[in-house]
Amino acid sequence: MKLYVIGLGPGDPAQITPKAMAAIAQSDVIAGYTVYIALINQWIENKKILSTPMKQEIDRCRMAIEEAVKGKTVSMVCSGDAGVYGMAGLIYELSAAYPPIEIEVIPGVTAACSGAAVLGAPLMHDFAVISLSDLLTPWTRIEERLHSAARADFVICLYNPSSKKRSDYLEKACRIIMEHQSPNTVCGYVKHIGREGQTSMILSLKELATAQTDMFTTVYIGNSQTKVVEGKMVTPRGYRT
Ligand code: SAH
Repeated sequence: MKLYVIGLGPGDPAQITPKAMAAIAQSDVIAGYTVYIALINQWIENKKILSTPMKQEIDRCRMAIEEAVKGKTVSMVCSGDAGVYGMAGLIYELSAAYPPIEIEVIPGVTAACSGAAVLGAPLMHDFAVISLSDLLTPWTRIEERLHSAARADFVICLYNPSSKKRSDYLEKACRIIMEHQSPNTVCGYVKHIGREGQTSMILSLKELATAQTDMFTTVYIGNSQTKVVEGKMVTPRGYRT
């Protein structure tokens, strides 16, 4: 009768919260995208697994809700935080058509935070998170948000910066931001945060425009004050030092 919607953090088992672990341990059924299920394999022996490939989010959520309606305790797992480009919203929306079940969202460390910690302290001041994926949002709306955030001098954190089909999206985003910010703005990216092959880079906005990124990369574009301190990307909070 209970459905947990759980953020697993970036991938490193040490970054899963004890609360998320406890909910997983209590669950009869674990639902999620195959890759995330693999991250927690060692803790879910003897549990029913409902894994579906990418892009079948609606089916995955319905299956999880149906198991909870049947009386099971279910964990729907997502990477990072379940409420940040995750499944939490869809679970609430779809559950309205079913008999009532108890839903609890358990937060996780979202990529913006885990990647920021790798680069230094880029998100110390106001920041905007923008996904460059136009699967569910029209590109014109994404462009408007990039313009607005850059114009307002927000630090910008980009999720889904590019994919095989959208290989030039990061470059397009950088060009828009350069209409408002200097090409020398301090930027960074982190690939495979908390996973095997984690790499990170600090570079200028101009360089970022031609950098190779993919769906496992989180990108940071500094504000006008962001600087490099001892090799780390730092946005000053404003303290007089
Ligand atoms: N719910 C997730 C975000 C899902 S959207 C969260 O809160 O983190 C998927 C995007 O998140 C990816 O394209 C990438 O930009 C970012 N991301 C998620 N996990 C990541 C990781 N381990 N390393 C780098 N980027 C990651």
